[in-house]
Amino acid sequence: MSRLDSFINRVIAQRECLNAACAEIAGREGVVFELGLGNGRTFDHLRERLPGREIFVFERSPAAHPKSMPDEAHLIIGDVTKTLPAAVERFAGRVVLLHSDLGSADLEENARLARFLSGTIPPLLAEGAIVLCDPALDLPRAERLQLPPTVQKDRYYMYRWKMRAAQPASAIQESF
Ligand code: SAM
Repeated sequence: MSRLDSFINRVIAQRECLNAACAEIAGREGVVFELGLGNGRTFDHLRERLPGREIFVFERSPAAHPKSMPDEAHLIIGDVTKTLPAAVERFAGRVVLLHSDLGSADLEENARLARFLSGTIPPLLAEGAIVLCDPALDLPRAERLQLPPTVQKDRYYMYRWKMRAAQPASAIQESF
C-alpha cells in the first residue's frame, strides 16, 4: 500500500471512529480529552461534533492551524507524561471520551507512551467512557468495541471503560 493510501485510510478511520465515539457519549456528562493537537484536525472535528462539550487538549509543542487552536483554558501544554498525572486530581472520573493521537514514526516511543497511558488514564475515566487510540492500550477493565464497518481491523482501537472488571481487552481482541 502506498503511503498516500495508508494516510487516507488512517484519516478515514479517525473520522469514522470519532463520529462513532461522539454518538456513544451523546447525552452523557463529562469532558473530552484530546491527546496530541498536531495540526488540530481531529480537535476541530470533535468540537464541531460536540458543541457545548468541554474539550481539553494536551500537547507538548502547540503549532496547530490558527483556526484549530484551543483557548488557553483548554490547552494543557507539556509532555503528557507530566501533564496527565497532574490532571488526575482535577478530572478524576469525569472524562467521558479520551482520544489519543500522540503517535509518530518512532514505534518504540509509541509503545512506551501506550504503556504509560494504560497505567495513567484509568482514574480519569467516567463509567462507560470511550477511549479511542492507536496503538492499542492495555486496559483490563475495558471492553474492546467493534470499529465502524468501513474501518480496517486494527487501524484504530476503541474501548468502553467499566469500573467493574471486564473480560480482558486482549481476550476480546483474539476472538475478532
Ligand atoms: N490529531 C492531530 C491532528 O488531527 O492534527 C495530529 C496529532 S500528531 C499525530 C501527534 C501530536 O502529539 C504532535 O503534535 C506531537 O507534538 C504530540 N505529542 C507526541 N508525544 C507527546 C507527548 N509525550 N506529550 C505531549 N504531546 C505529544
